[in-house]
Amino acid sequence: MAMRPPDTERLSVMTLEELKRQAEISLSGLGVDNEAAIEKKFADAWDAMVQERRHLIQHSADITFSRRVREFRNLFLARGHGLVARIKANWLDATPKTLKPFAGREFNTLRLNAENLLEEDAILKIVSSRQSFGKSEPREEVDLTLPGNRRPLGSLHPVTQMQREIEEIFLNLGFRIESGPEIESVYYNFDALNIPESHPSRDDWDTLYIDSKTVLRTHTSPVQIRAMEKYGAPLYIIIPGKCYRHDNPDASHSPMFHQIEGLAIASDITFADLKGTLDFFARKLFGEKVRTRFQPSFFPFTEPSGEVSISCIFCGGEGCRVCKESGWIEVMGCGMVHPLVLRNGGIDPEKYTGWAFGLGIDRFAMLKYDINDIQLFFQSDVRFLKQF
Ligand SMILES: [Zn+2]
Repeated sequence: MAMRPPDTERLSVMTLEELKRQAEISLSGLGVDNEAAIEKKFADAWDAMVQERRHLIQHSADITFSRRVREFRNLFLARGHGLVARIKANWLDATPKTLKPFAGREFNTLRLNAENLLEEDAILKIVSSRQSFGKSEPREEVDLTLPGNRRPLGSLHPVTQMQREIEEIFLNLGFRIESGPEIESVYYNFDALNIPESHPSRDDWDTLYIDSKTVLRTHTSPVQIRAMEKYGAPLYIIIPGKCYRHDNPDASHSPMFHQIEGLAIASDITFADLKGTLDFFARKLFGEKVRTRFQPSFFPFTEPSGEVSISCIFCGGEGCRVCKESGWIEVMGCGMVHPLVLRNGGIDPEKYTGWAFGLGIDRFAMLKYDINDIQLFFQSDVRFLKQF
């Protein structure tokens, strides 16, 4: 049953009396034996309830309204003998296993709608009694003991869903989640990560400065240093969070975006561990068939550094629009932690080695859900968000 607004005009096929009668008969007893018929039956029940509610609003005097609403709550929602309870007993509990999940969803919608319908009435009456305030008509006695209006449950934002999915994979590998401040010092954001004074990313065309010593962090990497200082080695962490850059919003850029990075430090960690871990991660996230490719790159905080590509999840490597006919999609940067960075975190690079990687959560969500505009994530348009 769709969540139709209660006043949708629709030829009613069932009176409340008829609904009361039918609620005592099982669905199979009513000749309802498939999903389409179940959907129609629940829709008819909903119509009958809406009809009664409209009748209630039109025909009860203000003074009796609260009492009538209470009677209706009883009729619809009372435990045991209320209509919703009877429908549950006879239309849901008595339904064969194969149709039960479907009937269950229909029933839950009907129950929530029925609860909301009656709560709306209480609100509606409070509003109308406020409007009549000051006039000579008898004032409505508002029943403040009625429950509030229930909001429908939403779902997690697609970026949050993606973040949790990535976290889950690394938590299962023994990593733990670490976080740090979004307003960060220039020291942690750049200096400690071996990013030289002259590096273009430090330019105020790229970085949002609060003052000369403070920035909105441009990546989650400062938390690497903070965690090394706090815990020492060995260390296995992932760091999800918001980052900021001086970018104009367009289809692939947002001044605020989400990153997650991983850091592993121990006494005998090699590039092979990094490759194996990221290969495992890619297959867990995008499916067993996905392959990874590592190519040399440069970052100031890792040495050697690499770019990781995955075989295109849309064409399987054949070549398509998304992978620009190459069969590969570049998804993250990685590398062995630079000895200077380890030292800045208080860890002896003679004793320990480590690797790190970083990726854009928003970009991963765009890939996974085939979304071509990052702005859609941050515009709070319910029509977009409710698809997830
Ligand atoms: Zn492709």
